[in-house]
Amino acid sequence: MTKIIIIGSGIVGSTIAYELSHYPHLDITLIDEKNPGTGSTGAALGILMGIISHKTKGRAWRLRESSLQRYQTLIPELESLTGLHIPCNNDGLVKLLFPDDDLTKWEKLAQIRSDQGYNLHIWDQSLLKYHCPEVDVSSLLGAIYSPCDRQISPTFLTKALVKGASLKGVKCLFGVKVENLKIVKNHEGNNSHCQQVQLGNESLSADWVILATALGTSSILQTLGSNIAIKPVLGQALLLKHTSWQTKDNFNPVITGNDIHIAPMGNDEFWLGATLEFPDNQDQIIPDEELLINLQQQAISFCPSLRNAPTMLSWTGKRPRPEGKSAPVIEKLADYDNIILATGHYRNGILLAPATALSVLELIN
Ligand SMILES: Cc1cc2nc3c(=O)[nH]c(=O)nc-3n(C[C@H](O)[C@H](O)[C@H](O)COP(=O)(O)OP(=O)(O)OC[C@H]3O[C@@H](n4cnc5c(N)ncnc54)[C@H](O)[C@@H]3O)c2cc1C
Repeated sequence: MTKIIIIGSGIVGSTIAYELSHYPHLDITLIDEKNPGTGSTGAALGILMGIISHKTKGRAWRLRESSLQRYQTLIPELESLTGLHIPCNNDGLVKLLFPDDDLTKWEKLAQIRSDQGYNLHIWDQSLLKYHCPEVDVSSLLGAIYSPCDRQISPTFLTKALVKGASLKGVKCLFGVKVENLKIVKNHEGNNSHCQQVQLGNESLSADWVILATALGTSSILQTLGSNIAIKPVLGQALLLKHTSWQTKDNFNPVITGNDIHIAPMGNDEFWLGATLEFPDNQDQIIPDEELLINLQQQAISFCPSLRNAPTMLSWTGKRPRPEGKSAPVIEKLADYDNIILATGHYRNGILLAPATALSVLELIN
């Protein structure tokens, strides 16, 4: 048996644990200092912007495409294995187009996606109004409709992944912080090797250690002499109640404009988010109230009836952003033969978790 220790049970670590659990020769332990899905994952809106993104080739597109494909089978597979319902919005995503948007750029993207086997529809004002009656189209060019992008509730998904993984034999240790990694020289003496993972007084031996630790990564890496740093970028979001939201034939997609997302969650509830707030030199970020007000005002300018929707809840979360490196970081840690980084997913961890798990699988094979 190959002993795999996954540190971090957000969406990334939980997906890796579940995907690796299909291989009977792997003895897997999933560890988190808190409860699963309560880090960055617990704050996420769960919007999967794959087809509508402008990434069309290379690693960025491959990760997106492989994740979107895997999500099609992953959700029904997990629901049937665990008996848990994972709320998803499968009505797609409507991206509002403003007068300064370059329509030819979108036409080109629609052509590329069509060649790749995906649809993007370009709607003029009247089509947008027809499909999305709540949108005030007067100052818009129209919209791009992406039927293959969608939204998934991140905490429900993480719970299902953890339950699925544990039903398939993964050992879960929650409420336990990894304090240290015990490092030795490998047999050839040219690389370092993590022999054990230390949790308080206990230690676990490991053949592979996977760091899916997001914002906890930098402190572990410092002890290993690596200067890869994962920094926080804060996001504020709101839950609104809107009891008279109009739809056409129950079509209720995510609406997004100027990087602001309005995600219908059922039960007359809508998630609205998120702000993008960068840290100071000490990595501190104080949520900026103005930015939250601005977020809400912009959403009201797209969908005016949101003005009467009371705020039921607001929350903040921190996205894990790699400094000086492209997100996400999925690679073997330099100078170590058995430590894998699966971290720094920044704004797309929910979208990219399945592709990350597949990449990790390739690295350990
Ligand atoms: C407001 C907001 C909105 C977002 N919206 C979207 C979206 O719509 N779509 C999208 O794709 N992404 C979105 N994101 C980004 C997404 O949330 C992240 O990219 C993703 O959650 C990262 O997942 P993770 O598993 O790497 O991190 P986390 O969920 O933070 O998990 C890391 C885990 O590691 C654990 N850990 C760390 N160090 C240790 C240690 N030493 N020992 C034990 N455990 C440890 C932590 O406790 C934590 O549970 C959003 C983020 C925010 C903040």
